[in-house]
Amino acid sequence: MNHNEYLVRAECPICAAPVAGSKLVIRSDPPAETLPFGSHGKFLSGYTSRRIFFSYARCPICEGLYCPVFFTQKQLDTLYAHQPENLVDVPLASRVATLRAYFDLLKQHSNLTGNYLELGPDIGVFAELCARDGRFSEFHLYEPNVEVHQVLTSRLAGQKLHISPASYVQGSLPASSLGVAIAIHVLDHLIDPATVLRALHQDLAPHGRLFLATHDEASLLARTLGRRWPPYTLQHPQLFSPKTISHLLERCGFRVIAAQKSLNYFPITLLMRASLNIFGIERWPNFMNFPWQVGLRLGNIATVAARV
Ligand SMILES: [Zn+2]
Repeated sequence: MNHNEYLVRAECPICAAPVAGSKLVIRSDPPAETLPFGSHGKFLSGYTSRRIFFSYARCPICEGLYCPVFFTQKQLDTLYAHQPENLVDVPLASRVATLRAYFDLLKQHSNLTGNYLELGPDIGVFAELCARDGRFSEFHLYEPNVEVHQVLTSRLAGQKLHISPASYVQGSLPASSLGVAIAIHVLDHLIDPATVLRALHQDLAPHGRLFLATHDEASLLARTLGRRWPPYTLQHPQLFSPKTISHLLERCGFRVIAAQKSLNYFPITLLMRASLNIFGIERWPNFMNFPWQVGLRLGNIATVAARV
């Protein structure tokens, strides 16, 4: 065992109950925590058949699902520094369709004014939708991947723009200054999501809105696929359900105003390939090259929350 090199949690990241009472529920063979750092293979494993991840345990108090042993922040920084663009396999048109559905939900609950913050905006597709339809004063984008900063700048041309490669922490922005705070597939990746949520709570204006997209470990797809469910990966120190994301948000001073199972759009061909990969079939017929897209409820939750 190489536990000493990894982060060993003392508390549940969702409710802060002691790890001691948690019960191991899902593990890979071999579990990542039994392998030395640097020997796990591909970090962003995605939709492939060979899956190595840190064992997930269930908290008996909040039912949160998390890894009691995980990479340290320093190890994560090393791994993320050498990654290609997220979701690079999924064509842009499909990603835009998915994000447009998220935007439609946000628009129902926000007047799209004040300052805009996004954690991990990637190439800025969602921020651009907000810039086009909203009347935001400033855009604060925290994007560790400097490779995409130029693209972000051109996508948000004409806006008052602040792009930072550093992590967002409490005190980065004036308190109560944000109209919206966006974190799309970010919370699942943070070792300590509560600290970031508390900082966002402080920086949101009284009528501000928090928008989150996270995987849903309680979804039918997750329960059906078991450990083959793609979000069980080395990147996710915890995974949420509608119940546990609400628990965490309430603990950090938020009130959930909408939580929806969201549609994710994929080209049919990619989906077929991913399905085959999940079940260990690495070869697929390549004569099917349809441009059709399908929207599927792939086990994601979109959550809108307000400051209490
Ligand atoms: Zn808990």
